[in-house]
Amino acid sequence: MSRIVIDSEKCKACYLCVKECPKKLIKISDKTNKLGDRIVEFVDPEGVCLGCAMCANRCPDLAIREVYKG
Ligand code: SF4
Ligand code: SF4
Repeated sequence: MSRIVIDSEKCKACYLCVKECPKKLIKISDKTNKLGDRIVEFVDPEGVCLGCAMCANRCPDLAIREVYKG
């Protein structure tokens, strides 16, 4: 199963990844990081992530560091 790992301390809450994911698997969280930004979370209960890395390639802050293609 494909998945991503988000580094919440690097996330600047621009939400470009939210718009970019073709499967809409990245959600704005209620949680904040140390900078006070509302971070994003990977939510994929049905295991439909493509491992395409479009989210990681779009992130200007390199906060999506790891993409596992399953
Ligand atoms: S694109 Fe990167 S910095 Fe922007 S919300 Fe997504 S993970 Fe955070
Ligand atoms: S790897 Fe592709 S499908 Fe998976 S969360 Fe990122 S953009 Fe969405």
